Amino acid sequence: MKCNRCGTDNPKGKSVCKKCGAFLYSANPNNRVPLTKEQKSARRKSLFKGSALGCLWSVLIIVGMFFVLGIISYLLVRFVIPEEYFSDVTIETSGSVTPGATSLPASSN
Ligand SMILES: [Zn+2]
Repeated sequence: MKCNRCGTDNPKGKSVCKKCGAFLYSANPNNRVPLTKEQKSARRKSLFKGSALGCLWSVLIIVGMFFVLGIISYLLVRFVIPEEYFSDVTIETSGSVTPGATSLPASSN
């Protein structure tokens, strides 16, 4: 049985090409032959493998997207938001710690 993809002659009864791994039944509906039990199981295995791989890829893509989002938000916080935003917070906390701080408006009243 000749391979449709690479043209390698494979022994009869084989469901996949020994050279390139392509299925030996034709995808063309005009000369499609009914699948043998072996071919059906081979195709099912291949489909399962493909879907598992697709699942793995989608998980990897989702994890990668979260990773990229994390990096972007980190860069945003680190470089885009002005320094004063953080220095404001530090003044407030150090003012409450230091006893001689006069920055609080409530003490002057
Ligand atoms: Zn082949």
